[in-house]
Amino acid sequence: MASIYNNYSSDTICAIATAMSDAGIGIIRVSGSDAVDICDKIFVSPKKQHTLKDHEANTIKYGFVCDGDTIIDEVMISFMKGPYSYTREDVIEINSHGGMLIMNQIMELLIKNGCRLAEPGEFTKRAFLNGRIDLTKAEAIMDIISAQNNFALESSRMQLQGKISDCIKDIRKKIIYEMAFIESALDDPENYDLTGYPEKLDGIVDNLSEEIRKLVDSANEGKIRKDGIRTVIVGKPNAGKSSLLNALTGDERAIVTNIAGTTRDIIEETVRLGDIILHVIDTAGIRDTDDVIEKIGVDKAKKAVEEAELVLYILDSTDVFSDEDKEIASLCKDKKTIVLLNKNDLENDIKITDDIVRMHFSEPDDKELPIISTSLLKGDGLDDLKAAVSDLFLNGEIAPKQEIYITNLRHKDLLEKALESLSLVKDSISKNISEDFYTIDLTSAYEFLGEIIGEEIGDDLVEEIFSKFCMGK
Ligand code: GDP
Repeated sequence: MASIYNNYSSDTICAIATAMSDAGIGIIRVSGSDAVDICDKIFVSPKKQHTLKDHEANTIKYGFVCDGDTIIDEVMISFMKGPYSYTREDVIEINSHGGMLIMNQIMELLIKNGCRLAEPGEFTKRAFLNGRIDLTKAEAIMDIISAQNNFALESSRMQLQGKISDCIKDIRKKIIYEMAFIESALDDPENYDLTGYPEKLDGIVDNLSEEIRKLVDSANEGKIRKDGIRTVIVGKPNAGKSSLLNALTGDERAIVTNIAGTTRDIIEETVRLGDIILHVIDTAGIRDTDDVIEKIGVDKAKKAVEEAELVLYILDSTDVFSDEDKEIASLCKDKKTIVLLNKNDLENDIKITDDIVRMHFSEPDDKELPIISTSLLKGDGLDDLKAAVSDLFLNGEIAPKQEIYITNLRHKDLLEKALESLSLVKDSISKNISEDFYTIDLTSAYEFLGEIIGEEIGDDLVEEIFSKFCMGK
């Protein structure tokens, strides 16, 4: 049980656990001490010979949900007796037909007979508060449901298996050992000698910080792999921006035309480059114009570049490198940018080469600017684009290398706070400050890490975290 949490309500809750749409089967979940009694009021077995109370735990029974003498639906009911259930309370799951109307009628019946409609995430919150899972595992359950790619799914699975909690618990164990040692030495100086201890602690804190730092470092890559990269496609009208988007989405959603400035508004698409997700904003192109509608597009494009993590800058290689191009190039400054020299199939007309691009882009300390030759008409160059994105964001590794990645911002923030506290311990050591000060900052680090797994967490945060869950989970 989360130590500081006071808001536990033990009333019996119900919710539709399956999707809110018509389907073959729907599952309604009921959890709480009155789950069996309430369901008994609405469940009738075929020969009316059983009540749910008589059913063995972990069995599934066939019968009917009835409102008085009226049969509402033909169902299967499973019963998991607490503490051997998802929430550790008595849990009943009603497998009914999956129509929204029928499921809502069953829900109304349950509520009429004493259930309360569950809040989002309340089943998982109870599992957490009853000590069945820690907070990282509860969060992993949500992440498994919302995973959008294999990486997100796999890292959530690892988290649910306890890889992150184990790691955090291990670090906390080492910290509390030192805290206990210092306390003991201060209480009982005759038996515990602190001579030479600060130097030893300094080394221990270095190692702990290194372990935490690795987790923090994994967060940037973890986020990119899980959530994708905010990407903007820029370039003059007709360079091939819509064609790129179409090549990536594999359909004709963006209207491709050769009339300058037709793609006036911003189109946002989520596309996959292998297992990397790009949230691509296609813009109207960036150029000075008096046309009011077009101007809106241009302003949006400039703003989109500011907000993007990756800029894909398309140049029509059969055109000249104009002032507009220079202006666009200047917008890309300080952004991770990949230049696509498009229309390479028109090889006889090429006017812009890699060298010309570099000349206009180069800063004295410019990193190697990735320049890719493409024919978006033919779909050529997309593999090179994938490699370039992976070079820029994933150290060239397409597949994840580590077992554990931090993908949750809450975890990352707390890890950083723990690091900060450990650095204060080192400060105190270097300044020869007395040992009891070490404990203060070691305790903070211990508590920040505890918040990750939910051991040092207050009501508000518990409410906030679980409110983001979906209904019925
Ligand atoms: P946007 O205005 O930047 O979105 O450019 P579009 O994608 O609409 O492309 C403008 C025109 O260039 C269209 O007629 C495309 O078919 C053509 N186009 C795009 N990419 C290529 C390419 O690689 N080779 C050739 N030959 N034409 C292309």
